[in-house]
Parts: sequence; structure tokens; C-alpha cells
Amino acid sequence: MKDDHYLARILGRIHGRGYKAYQDLRGSYQFNQFTLHVDHVQRDPYASPSHLRVEVEDHHYPPHFFSTSIRRVALEDYIARSFQRSIHAHLTRPRGSGRSGVMRIDAGGQEILERSCVNINPENLEIRFTLGLSAKGRKIMGEDTKKILVEILPHIVDDSCFFTGNPEVESHLHLAEDAQAIREELYIEGLVAFIANGSTLPRRSGICSQPLSGAVPFKSPESLRISLNSPNQGLITGMGIPEGVTLIVGGGYHGKSTLLQAVEAGVYNHLPGDGRELVVTRESAVKIRAEDGRSIQKTDINSFIHEPPFMKSTKEFSTQNASGSTSQAANIVEALEAGSQLLLFDEDTSATNFMIRDERMQALVKSNQEPITPYLDRVQELYDQEGVSTVMVMGGSGDYFEVAHTIIMMDCYQPHNRTLEARKVAQQIPTGRSREVPYPFSYRHRTPLKESINPYRGRRMKISNRGKDTILLGSDTIDLSQVKQLVDPSQTRALAYALYHAQKYMDGHSTLREILSRLEADLERKGLDVLSPPGRENPPDLAGFRPFELAAALNRLRSLSIK
Ligand code: ADP
Ligand code: MG
Repeated sequence: MKDDHYLARILGRIHGRGYKAYQDLRGSYQFNQFTLHVDHVQRDPYASPSHLRVEVEDHHYPPHFFSTSIRRVALEDYIARSFQRSIHAHLTRPRGSGRSGVMRIDAGGQEILERSCVNINPENLEIRFTLGLSAKGRKIMGEDTKKILVEILPHIVDDSCFFTGNPEVESHLHLAEDAQAIREELYIEGLVAFIANGSTLPRRSGICSQPLSGAVPFKSPESLRISLNSPNQGLITGMGIPEGVTLIVGGGYHGKSTLLQAVEAGVYNHLPGDGRELVVTRESAVKIRAEDGRSIQKTDINSFIHEPPFMKSTKEFSTQNASGSTSQAANIVEALEAGSQLLLFDEDTSATNFMIRDERMQALVKSNQEPITPYLDRVQELYDQEGVSTVMVMGGSGDYFEVAHTIIMMDCYQPHNRTLEARKVAQQIPTGRSREVPYPFSYRHRTPLKESINPYRGRRMKISNRGKDTILLGSDTIDLSQVKQLVDPSQTRALAYALYHAQKYMDGHSTLREILSRLEADLERKGLDVLSPPGRENPPDLAGFRPFELAAALNRLRSLSIK
């Protein structure tokens, strides 16, 4: 195999030549402690950067650090972040045109996600990263690239890819393992979420997911307090949110939405120091909101909306421009279709007419004039018949008191259990409204068809993402900005690839749920790489996602075609 000296010689030789000569770099080079693979070379200094990989054989990480999937994901996460720190420590400000000299690893934000950028097994450790190959205009700055790859890269690798006994590594794994253990215990204890005492829930700002400093630490009310056992930290005490229907009430600005958002985020594990590292939620929790303008394809929203004006049936409801209430109904049914057993609502982002309908409105607008069955009249049934729990922020209407099992009141950022008081209020002040359910709750499973997905724009394949909120697929654009549990742009990229991959399971018979589980089985067996479209082997920047977000992406595809 060629070695680092050989690489240095190529770079010396092509220094000053046109950018195309960088293509000569493709291949593998044996360094002292690792092998460097140059997989993809960018076409010019402004194009998306080149893909490189480092393979380390004697990484010294003990096998029990990655013996379970939760440990492996956390270890790989730790290594990605170390590599990133090491890049910052060793690489000085880049010079040159475009992305010259910019080295990146996809280390992620506050969540610990499965990532394609680091892969460890007993034999080796693989790190995938990108580098903008240096140029001035279109002239190769070979000496700069030589410095980065031949001199600096060995230091970066040396600092971050070998286990040296640092106890921080193990505590990173232990924390993720504890969070996962608690998540599994939720089912045994009949809980849907758990918030450890001392957690910091609020974030620094709406655009920054770091913890707010000086926040009031979370403390469970006595009556909802529970201690759960974790393998590494022993008993952890906090508030358990039980199965069933839970309301979060309280005055404006008292921390209701912040609590719900922490529960939403609890489907993922978080970094030590995040403040939510011991806030855990069942993995099937889906945030439901109104999302007017989205498209809907043959979704059975009939249990919530029947016979709107000039329309016969809503068992196969399609639109390219949903209203607030129809979009919210579709979001619920689609979450259930994908297998969710826990729905999260915030009144701030819900359609009022979908959530409530009070006595006076029932008197004025007769039920035969109102196509909407409000969620209020389905929420209990969903729990009793489908086993689907609800956690809802509802500060604006007491009509939910009758149907709730647990009522948590936020007061100055502290939770109180007000279930009994609310029951009393409900008895003293009857709502006077009547339940409006024309027929029992049901929905239909749909079969998506192959032709839904066309990755070609003209003759070129286009499967990519723009940030966290947009997927570009052929000539379609999918807007995911209202899919709030999507947290990382690399998840969005993986979703784009997954849509393409899922197409092969669209055989005209398989339901959406069946397609999701086949894809999950693929991911479990082969990892994120299985999603890569042809010609994009060894992707450096994919992150794990849930089936719910994949379903959400497919459901928002405007060309979705249903049998
Ligand atoms: P609500 O939904 O009840 O109106 P929010 O959850 O939106 O209230 O919270 C209002 C504000 O208080 C937000 O800016 C939030 O960041 C902040 N906040 C929430 N919880 C805490 C806390 N525990 N400590 C300090 N500030 C908090
Ligand atoms: Mg709010």
C-alpha cells in the first residue's frame, strides 16, 4: 500500500496545478498509526468538501465499552466529539478559497444519536470526516493540504482515537445506559415519561438548545414522585407521568410548554450536562400540532372530521393545502398508523376547534353543522381502546378535567399534582357540554405506492437535504419544519436516503407500517450505511432517526401516491 510519504510526494507534485489534479489523491495510504482513505474528491474548492476516512487498528477501547448497542452508540458519539475537539485544537484558521482547509466531523448537537461518522468494532475504529482541499482560486495549494494531512492529521488522530484510560469515556457510556434503562422501566411502572429531580428543562433560547443557566431545577411533587433503578447510578428520583390522559395546566409563562418540550426531547438520550440527560420518554412519543398548508394523501381522518361541506367521505382524505384542524387530525392518525402509543399536544400549537367545543358553541352550532369531533371527545377512547396515552398542555379550557387521569399544574416552574382539586372543580362547575361521537374511533392502514418516489430531476439523481427542515427528492421538496422531534440535519439527510431506500419495499401490498418495520430491520442489521444510494458509499454524515419521522417525511411528500 502507498504510505504517507507517497501522499506527501503527490501533494508536492500537484502543488500549483489545476484543481482537477486533486483527483490523483483517491486511494488509501498507510500512516504510522492508521490508514487514511480518500474516498471522494471534490470538483472545485466551492463544491461540497472531500470525503476521507481514517482507520485505526489498535484503538485499545475495551470490548465491553461497545458490547451493547446503546454503549456502542454512546462510545461512537464520544469519539466523534473528541475528534471534533481535536480538529479545533490542532487546525488553525484555514486560508485559501471556498472551503479550503476546513475539516469537519459530523459530531452532532445535544443528542446522542447513532451516526455514520464513527464506527467501532474489536478489530478497528473508523472515522469519517470531510476536508476542503486547499486552493487559491482553482490552483491547488498542495503544500497546505500536505501540512493538514501529513503533519496535523496524525496529531488529531493521536489525541482522539485511542483509549488512554480517561474515566470520562466510561461515564459518557454509563449515563446513556442509565437513561435507556429508565426508558425501559417506564413500561414496567406504567409510566410514559420520567423527569429526574434536579433536571434543567429550559433552553438558552428558541434557537439554542444549550441549557438555560440559573434555571429553577425540576422537583417532583410528592404524589407523583418515583424512584427508578439505573444500572450505574442506582436509584434516581423524579416525577413519573402515568399512562392515560395527562393535562399540564397553569398560568401563562409558568413553564408548561417547557415541560412538554422536555418530554418531547426525552425520546433521545442527551449529553452529560445537557440538563435533560435523565428526562426520558417512551420512544414512540409523537408531538402533534396543527400544520395548515401541508399535503395529505388518503389519510383516514373520519374519526375526527366527517363530511365537511361539499365532500362525501373523509375516510380517504386528500388535500394539497390542509386546514389547521384537518392537518392536526391527519398528524394524529398518521402517528398511530406508524405505531405511536403516546401523543403530545401543546395548546400553543393546536387548532382550538380541534381541541375543544364548549356548551355554548354546541348550542349555537348544531352537531350536524359541525364536521369536527373535538379531540376532547376521543381522548379517553384512544386510551381505553387503542392504549394510546396523551400528554397535553391545556391552560385555556377546563373541559378536559373530566377526561384526564392526571392533572399537573405548573406554578413558577414547579409542578404540583392538582388531579383531585380539578375533579372537585369539575363536580362543582359542570361543563354542560355533551359528548359528540357519531361512531367509534377507527382508522385505515394505507399502502404507499412505488411511483410516490422519483429521485430524478431530469437525468440527475437528487436526494439531499437543506438543513434540518427540508428534503430535496427529485423535483419534490418536503417541508419538515413542523416535525418537531427531528433534531439534527443529518437525520434529515438520512431520511432523504431512507425514502429512496423504502421505495424497494413499496410492492403494492405492504402497508406503511410494514414498510417502516422492514426498513428498521435493515438498519438494525446493517447500520445507516444501508441507506446510501448508489455512488455514495461510506457517507460521513448520516444520523439515526425514528420510524415516526420517516413516516412524517413520506406523509408530507406532495407526490405521495396511495393505493
Ligand atoms: P408557558 O407554556 O406556561 O406559557 P413556557 O414554558 O413557555 O411557559 O415558559 C416561559 C418562560 O420561562 C420561557 O422563556 C422559559 O424558558 C422559562 N422557563 C421555563 N422553565 C423554567 C425554569 N425551570 N427556570 C427558569 N426559566 C424557565
Ligand atoms: Mg406555552
